[in-house]
Formats: sequence, structure tokens, C-alpha cells
Amino acid sequence: MNNVVEDEDNMITKSEKVNAQQRAAMMIRQAGIQLNDGETEKIEVVDFGLSRLDDEGVQVFTMVNTDRLAAKILVLFPNQTEPEHWHPRVGNDPGKQETIRHIWGDLLFYVEGDDNMKKGFIVEGKENVYTLRHEIILQPGDQLTFEPYEKHWFQAGPRGAVLYSFSTTVRDGLDGFTDPAIQRTTVIKEEN
Ligand code: ZN
Repeated sequence: MNNVVEDEDNMITKSEKVNAQQRAAMMIRQAGIQLNDGETEKIEVVDFGLSRLDDEGVQVFTMVNTDRLAAKILVLFPNQTEPEHWHPRVGNDPGKQETIRHIWGDLLFYVEGDDNMKKGFIVEGKENVYTLRHEIILQPGDQLTFEPYEKHWFQAGPRGAVLYSFSTTVRDGLDGFTDPAIQRTTVIKEEN
């Protein structure tokens, strides 16, 4: 297998993707949630076009996404960060309203408010694009609701984290990100 990727921008390799799907599936099961046969391959691996999946990324298993509602399981690997974002209005849709509920592991959320950041960290070199420094330490069973346009970002601690996301219909491709380098669509590089 040739691991030398010529154009390393904005992509992850197929083996990185499969590997991440398997790790995420293991964590979901470890959290006590059943996945059926064939569902591991349906886990979306999102590197936000930054090609540093373990630092900035998220793994998403969609249970349902209709034109009215969505329910997902999100997995963060140890110390992995989901970049700062918000959910804007789209046409007649006033924007995604989202409730997250922590299930398993170490989870920190960052929202509007005074800087009380203690446990988490800003991804190296990204001080300008992680503007929120109000830290909420979640325990399993804790939940938070975000209204459209309410900025947030989140990060797993040393064990990683598994959480639910319940929301109105999801149009991830239209989310706003503070980091201009982000591309929401992950490109998978085929390996020889
Ligand atoms: Zn969100």
C-alpha cells in the first residue's frame, strides 16, 4: 500500500476513513448503543477539509435525517475538536435548532460567555478561529440546546466522547464556520 499522498490538502485517505469508522463504531458500542451489520460503513468521517482528522474532526452516525428532523450519534476521538460553527437560516428554514446530550466519555463545550477555560485547549495555531472561551464541562446525561446562529465548538478529553445530537433538519453543507480554511465536504483519496 502506498501511503505517500502527493496532494495532501483537503482530504483523508480511504484507509484513514475505514480506520476512523471502526474506531468510532467501537466507541459507540462501548457506550452501550447497538449498531447493526453494515452500519459501521455508514459512519461519516469529517475532517472539515483540514486533513488533520485526529486534531480537528468528528465522526457522525445518522439515525434519521428527514426534511423536518434529524437524530445523530457524534463521536470524538481523544482530544479531537469539532471546530467553532453555527447553523444559519436557509431559505424558508429559520436554521437548525440542536440539542446535544452527552452519553459517554469526556466532553467540553464552548459557548458565548466569559472566559473560564480550564480543562480544554485551543488547537495549536488556531487562536483566531476559536473565539468562544466559555467552557461547559458535561457529564453523561447532561444536555444543551442551541438556537440557530448560536456559535459553539466542542472537544473531547482523554477518553474521547460519544453524544447524541437531536435537531431540526440538517444541512451541514451550509453551516457557518469561524475558520475560513474549513470545507465541510470531506474528500476521500483513493489509494493505489
Ligand atoms: Zn452544531
